[in-house]
Amino acid sequence: MLQYFPVSEFIPGVCGVDIENLWRKFYQLYEVLRKPSHTEAEILKFEEDAKNWVRTFCRPTIGQMNSATAIPGLYRKDDVTPYMHMLTMHVPYFMRRLKEKGLSLRLFSTSSVEKKNHDQVRLFFGGTTMGGGKKKLPVVYDILVFENRQIFYLINNIPNEITCRNINIYNGENTI
Ligand SMILES: [Zn+2]
Repeated sequence: MLQYFPVSEFIPGVCGVDIENLWRKFYQLYEVLRKPSHTEAEILKFEEDAKNWVRTFCRPTIGQMNSATAIPGLYRKDDVTPYMHMLTMHVPYFMRRLKEKGLSLRLFSTSSVEKKNHDQVRLFFGGTTMGGGKKKLPVVYDILVFENRQIFYLINNIPNEITCRNINIYNGENTI
C-alpha cells in the first residue's frame, strides 16, 4: 500500500519527498524478494541496494542543522529494526543457499513468528510490569522455561490437567 501513498503531501519539504522515495525503494526491494528465482547478479545487487536503503533510512543530517543547505536525516539509528538487519546482513545469504536448491524466499512467511511473538507477549508481559520490577531473571528466561516444560510434557505424555476425586463419606464410594 505504501508505494501509492503520497507521503510528500502530508510531510512538507524535502523531508516528505525523501521519505516517500525511501518507502518506494523499500517496496522495490520487497518485489525483488518476491521473485520466484534470482540470478547471482540480482542477489548481489539486492544486497547492495538493501544496505544503501538502511543507510538512507538512518542517515544523519548533513550540513548545519536547520540551515537552508542542510539535508535532514530521516529516521534515527535506534529506529532500525531487527528485520532491517536481517534484510541486509542475512537475507542475501539465505537467497544464495535457497538458490542452490532451486527455492526462493517467496515460499516463506514470518506470520508464524509473529503469531508466536503475539502469544508470548500476551502470556509473559500481560498484566506484569513488562518484565521489570523486582525480578532478577529476564523475561526471555521465563519464556524458555515455560516452553521447555511444555515440550517435556508433550514428549513424555504428561497430562496437563488433574482430576480431583472427592470421597463421599455417606456411601463410601468415590465420586468425581
Ligand atoms: Zn545478525
